[in-house]
Amino acid sequence: MLRLHTFPTLLITILMGWLSANDAQAENDKKIVLIAGPPSHGVLQHEHKAGCMLIEHCLQGRPGIELKVYTGGWPENPDALEGADAVIIFCTGGKNHLAIQENRLAQLEKVMQTGAGFGCLHYGVEVPRDQGGAEFLKWMGGYFETHWSVNPHWQAEFKAFPEHPISNGVKPFGVNDEWYFHMRFPEGMEGVTPILSAHPPKETMKRGDGPHSGNPAVREAVAQGQPQHVAWAYERPEGGRGFGFTGLHNHLNWRNPSFRKVILNAVLWIAQAEVPSNGVDCPLTEEMILSNLDQKRGRNPLEVLRDARKNQPFLSPVQGK
Ligand SMILES: [Zn+2]
Repeated sequence: MLRLHTFPTLLITILMGWLSANDAQAENDKKIVLIAGPPSHGVLQHEHKAGCMLIEHCLQGRPGIELKVYTGGWPENPDALEGADAVIIFCTGGKNHLAIQENRLAQLEKVMQTGAGFGCLHYGVEVPRDQGGAEFLKWMGGYFETHWSVNPHWQAEFKAFPEHPISNGVKPFGVNDEWYFHMRFPEGMEGVTPILSAHPPKETMKRGDGPHSGNPAVREAVAQGQPQHVAWAYERPEGGRGFGFTGLHNHLNWRNPSFRKVILNAVLWIAQAEVPSNGVDCPLTEEMILSNLDQKRGRNPLEVLRDARKNQPFLSPVQGK
């Protein structure tokens, strides 16, 4: 009698053990939430959705990594941020920033208190000083502050990188982008490691003063030849990591292997996942980069690509059309 019962019981025990082992595996996965804002700007500019989906393409399926991309705005699912190890936002900033609407700063604060990482891309690094500024400084270690930071387009040459996991495998590169700089950082750069730094040319200062165009403090910094940091890593005193990346006005810059490696390494790093010693390798074809674009009026993306190939010969050639 005993044997008749033992066999199915044993099976159930094994099955339950296997199921809970799988649950445990999923629980240990790093959950990375990417939030892409609605369409903005011209063709191949501020491509929030396509950019987040490239990150997903490159990182999804890595062992222990689970990504979830929300497109078109803030996730409607109220549990979207639940259990997140990192939240990355790529959207229009300033007073329209997704993170400062409704009670979203409070939603983010809740997940940041669990030690989740926080990263923002391009315009996503800008929030009003009195509405999100303090939070972004606390979570990400820097942000674009109007009348302090500036947003010119320029060719940045990145020649050296700090000892940091986000630098893994990154080679010197130069890319033309709307690289914001003179960001608002914590006093004494406490906890901040600049990842991409360069010297903006004098022409970046030719515009007049204004919320985004110029101010006396940035003019003095550039005149003194101070290197400007356009991507940075942050370690909060209470735990939790941040990353800010000011480029990505130009979607076609994803073609540059080191440019994208910085972003991909950073996404893993803020989620406290291991960054490979040579960084994340993710070969992309131009066809992939032209996928998932927002529908915008204007030029054909292929024409823009042809111009970019001519005007940005510094980009490594990749397979494609
Ligand atoms: Zn831009």
